[in-house]
Amino acid sequence: MLQTIAAFDRLGEENAFAVLARATALAAEGKDVINLGIGQPDFKTPQHIVEAAIKALRDGHHGYTPATGLLATREAVVRRTLSTTGVEVSPDNVMILPGGKPTMYAAIIMFGEPGAEILYPDPGFPIYRSMIEFTGATPVPVPIREENGFAFSAEETLALITPRTRLLILNSPANPTGGVTPRAEIEKLVKGLEAHSDVAILSDEIYDVMTYDGETHTSLLQFPEIRERLIVLNGWSKTWAMTGWRLGWSIWPNSREGAHLYDKVRKLAVNCWSCVNAPSQFAGIAAIDGPQDEVERMMRAFDRRRRIVVEGLNSLPGVSCITPKGAFYAFPNITGTGWKAKQLASALLEETGVALIGGPDFGILGEGYIRLSYANSEENILRAIERIEAFLKK
Ligand code: PLP
Repeated sequence: MLQTIAAFDRLGEENAFAVLARATALAAEGKDVINLGIGQPDFKTPQHIVEAAIKALRDGHHGYTPATGLLATREAVVRRTLSTTGVEVSPDNVMILPGGKPTMYAAIIMFGEPGAEILYPDPGFPIYRSMIEFTGATPVPVPIREENGFAFSAEETLALITPRTRLLILNSPANPTGGVTPRAEIEKLVKGLEAHSDVAILSDEIYDVMTYDGETHTSLLQFPEIRERLIVLNGWSKTWAMTGWRLGWSIWPNSREGAHLYDKVRKLAVNCWSCVNAPSQFAGIAAIDGPQDEVERMMRAFDRRRRIVVEGLNSLPGVSCITPKGAFYAFPNITGTGWKAKQLASALLEETGVALIGGPDFGILGEGYIRLSYANSEENILRAIERIEAFLKK
């Protein structure tokens, strides 16, 4: 067998894709599968966004675009950032990439190497840890606790910083928990970070506007004191139901001290993917500047489903679920069922056709939990709860 570098043996996976593959295979065998596994909106991309991409193709936008993205797309991101955070960024600090993940990749390989430590949320998006391990850096999990409403704790995070810490990864609203970290906690964290000026920060804000119950998202961009070492990950995938378009953006430091990071990610783009396809970038402009009524309709639907899912889960024997404040995931505690989380997820898929993800797929501290994505119809969510109930009562 051809020998590859050891780093590839350390790459992990996103088990949501494996569950999706198994669920699809079971459905192909004729099983009635209800998929609460995958983290993507079940809505179609709004039509005016699709039309903008078609128009771009018809207008002849078929070639390469700048590695950092079209200026018009970066300017749209500037407008969107101003409206959601109140912060004015320069298009020269905005990078357009093929999805949210490439920013994660870029930021982690920029700071990760053997001997370095990178802090990341656990339970959290599995790619953080996977990419950290790929670089040879030491992954340091920051515990995300149910008793904290699945917000991160500033105190606990700061206590994990050592002289070897190079990067701190934050995510709010969060996958897989739906947790939203309150502003006061973020302020505390930023204050504490003043003493660690050589720690870079990657704030994954891809679910920024997906909050409920009047909860508002606090962007790390709102803290000028950390701006020169802050990378903000965002994108179109979730907000405008555009996961398959592969379109994301990130905002990079603007100071003389941090500006070289932007040049590095630009160079990485030149080496790896050249640029993002033009029609997606035109679609991205239409998404930001066009009507938001379909986004609002989607969020109202998510909110209704969220209540149904939480109520349903809390009625199950051995299950308890706090109400998530963001994203479109519920992360119920299943310790009272006596099941290990991954075994339960697997048994539910095989025996009842309900696809969901075991908490350990999001980190060591995910044991005792499962993740349900409520990107499915109210009717299917209710059917899934009924099936889980029948299974647990067996
Ligand atoms: N960050 C978080 C927290 C996510 O949940 C996801 C997708 O599930 C991503 C980033 C990646 O987004 P994209 O599909 O745009 O690469």
